[in-house]
Amino acid sequence: MSEETRLREDICRFGRSLFERGLTAGSSGNISVRLKDGGWLTTPTNASLGFLDPARLSRLDPDGNLLSGDAPTKELPLHTALYATRSDAGAIVHLHSTHSVAVSMLPDVDAANAIPPMTAYYVMRVGQTALVPYYRPGDPAVADAIRGLAGRYTSVLLANHGPVVAGKDLEAAVYATEELEETAKLRLLLHGLNPRLLTREQVRDLVTHFGLDSSIVPTQP
Ligand SMILES: [Zn+2]
Repeated sequence: MSEETRLREDICRFGRSLFERGLTAGSSGNISVRLKDGGWLTTPTNASLGFLDPARLSRLDPDGNLLSGDAPTKELPLHTALYATRSDAGAIVHLHSTHSVAVSMLPDVDAANAIPPMTAYYVMRVGQTALVPYYRPGDPAVADAIRGLAGRYTSVLLANHGPVVAGKDLEAAVYATEELEETAKLRLLLHGLNPRLLTREQVRDLVTHFGLDSSIVPTQP
C-alpha cells in the first residue's frame, strides 16, 4: 500500500471515529495532511467526517490547486495559515466540538492562554491554546489572525466556532484535538469552583521529563 493510500484511509478512519463520538456534527469539521511533495490531502467541502470516501478526498498541489477528488473544504485557509507558520505540522484537525466552542464564549478566557494547565496530558499533547476573535465563516481575516500568531501555537480556538489543531502527523493532531476537547469539558465542569491547577513546578517537570517545547506550555492564570 502506498503512503498516500494509507493516509487516505487514515483520514476516513479518524474522521468516522470523531464523528461517531459526537465530536463534530453534520458536515462540520475538516482534516488535512501534508504530503511529501509539499501538497495536501484534505476532506471535501460539505462532507461529513462520518462518511468520507478515500477516493474522493481532495488532493492538492503545493500551491493549493485541486489535482483530483472533490472540491476541498471551504475552511482550507484555516489549515494553510497554520501550516504556513508551523513548518513541523504534518496534519491539522478542525472540529466544531461542543465544549471547546463553549469555552471560546466564556467572558474570562485569556486569549493568549485559553486553557490553563489542568492535566499533564493537556500540557503534553496540546501545549498552549490561543483564542482568536469571532469571524464570519469564510472571512479571509481569520487566516490572517492565525498567521498573526506567528507559529507560537499549534492549537488555536476560533471564538464561537471551534478548535484548529496541528500535530506532527495525523494521529498526533487527532489526539491533541481530543485532549483539548476533554480539557475544555473539565474547564466547564469546574468553572467558578477554583480548581487546583498544575503548579509551575509540575509543568516544568513535564517539560524536562518529556522534552516538551517550553515556549508552548500553558501557564497559570
Ligand atoms: Zn469550522
